[in-house]
Amino acid sequence: MLIQTKLISWYLKNKRTFPWRKTKDPYKIWVSEIILQQTRADTGVLYYNKFLKKFPTLNKLAKSTEQEVLKAWEGFGYYSRARNLFHTACKIFEEHGGKFPSDFKTLKSFRGIGDYTASAIVSICFNVSEGVVDGNVYRLISRIFGIRDAINLYSSKRKFKEKVNSLIKGFDPGLLNQAMMEFGALQCVPRKPKCNICPLKRVCFSYENNQTSLLPFKSEKKRIKNRFFNFIVCHNSSKETIIEKRETGIWKNLYQFPLLETKNSVKKISRVQIIDILKKYCKIEEFTLSKWNKKPIRNILSHQQIEIDFWVVKIDENLEEFIDKENLINYPMPKVLQNFREKFFLC
Ligand code: SF4
Repeated sequence: MLIQTKLISWYLKNKRTFPWRKTKDPYKIWVSEIILQQTRADTGVLYYNKFLKKFPTLNKLAKSTEQEVLKAWEGFGYYSRARNLFHTACKIFEEHGGKFPSDFKTLKSFRGIGDYTASAIVSICFNVSEGVVDGNVYRLISRIFGIRDAINLYSSKRKFKEKVNSLIKGFDPGLLNQAMMEFGALQCVPRKPKCNICPLKRVCFSYENNQTSLLPFKSEKKRIKNRFFNFIVCHNSSKETIIEKRETGIWKNLYQFPLLETKNSVKKISRVQIIDILKKYCKIEEFTLSKWNKKPIRNILSHQQIEIDFWVVKIDENLEEFIDKENLINYPMPKVLQNFREKFFLC
């Protein structure tokens, strides 16, 4: 039996039940693929259902605001995904009358849709023969065929894509793509792949040559950047506070407390620094200053590690442009700030 036939037959017997496997609606497949980019499938189901409840169609998403979309995405992380979903929905609505394009190149031209997502959408929804190469497929392909190219290098992408394209030719592309991804996720797993019960073991290079622990090959990881954020939480006795919209970076367009970024973790912040940070919002002279957390709070992202301290500045006066604590919940914030908001303002 061919590798492809074995994979499809294994998939039909073993696949997990997910809501996105019951539809070929390109909008829903798109949302699921974006969610699954950085999230495990079982957690992704919760967000998929929540997101589609709020934005059941592309037109509904396009007619909302970016703030509403970020609010629905709050706590889920990697917020560029939400910003891109909103931006692309607006573009499809304006330029294609809300009809999801079925053309691979057109899809790839949209913000947030790369080769992987475009291939998944066109193969699953429009029966187009484009191979989907995610981490699971890289692992499976490199083990079966003994491919030693580093899977984390851009230059290897084309080779893997060509291999997958040649495999799916002549088969149902959506079905086989999903079969390979699921096989990598459940059977040919990173550590301790289930080779003894694998239907592919007779044709698998790495099993035959005792190399499963050596493949897939990865080149050395990039260095993680360390950053140090000091949030200045200024409030009065009614717990009215100041927040600002972040203009750039991973948390772009989310809200935060005024920020002082330092080169290292600091034990103290001077009163002059506090006055300087807050001067664009208010002119304060009298205040008490304390640190809310005992140890820095670590927020680890894929390419940076952020150490966070919250500096609480208590003032007496009532000032303009303050947000009251009841209203604070309406502003989308990164998870670490949401946690602080709940503990400090909402308890
Ligand atoms: S034999 Fe092992 S390494 Fe090869 S495809 Fe099967 S699970 Fe993966």
